[in-house]
Parts: sequence; C-alpha cells; structure tokens
Amino acid sequence: MLLKVGLHTYDVTFPDVVTDQGKDVFGLTDTNTLTIQISSSVQHSLQVETLIHEICHACFYFSYLWKQNKPDEELIVSQMAFFLSSVFIDNPWVLKFIQEGRAAFIS
Ligand SMILES: [Zn+2]
Repeated sequence: MLLKVGLHTYDVTFPDVVTDQGKDVFGLTDTNTLTIQISSSVQHSLQVETLIHEICHACFYFSYLWKQNKPDEELIVSQMAFFLSSVFIDNPWVLKFIQEGRAAFIS
C-alpha cells in the first residue's frame, strides 16, 4: 500500500516477520528507500499502533526534528504514536473529518 507523508510516498508492506539489525521488531521505517514494514503476525490493534509509530518516524525525519540537540527520537515517536492511536480509535469522526477535508481540497 502507498502512504503519502508530505511530498514523499512510502511503500507499506505487512510481512510475517520484520527484523532490524537481526532483531524481530513490530515495524520498521527506512527513509532512504521510503519503505515501511509492519509485522502481520501481531494483533491488529498492535499493527495499528505500530503503523502510526512508523508514520511518526517519517514525520520526525521530514520535519527535521532530528536536527535539535540530541532529541530522543524513540521517546518522541512513541509518545506521538500512542496518543495519535488513542485519538483515532476513540474519535473515528476525526479521520472522516480529515478525509472529507482532503476530498474538498482536491475537488
Ligand atoms: Zn521506533
């Protein structure tokens, strides 16, 4: 599946196993190849949170937050992903509102 983040388009795949430096992980973002992998072997709610987590990594990279003095990327991204996941799950209208706004913007 394709995922637009700003001007960039990521290829998102859902393989059974995702590894990072030899370790099994839930998800992985590569900003060089513009790819995101989400492990399909975990529960759906965890896939959702992981996808948002990886989207936050992409946002973190392209917003240049990493240029700040020693930012803790994993802490920032984890907190952003947790709260974004909760907001989207608890408020389904928000995603619809965003979609409707996008559709109005395109037409
Ligand atoms: Zn991470």
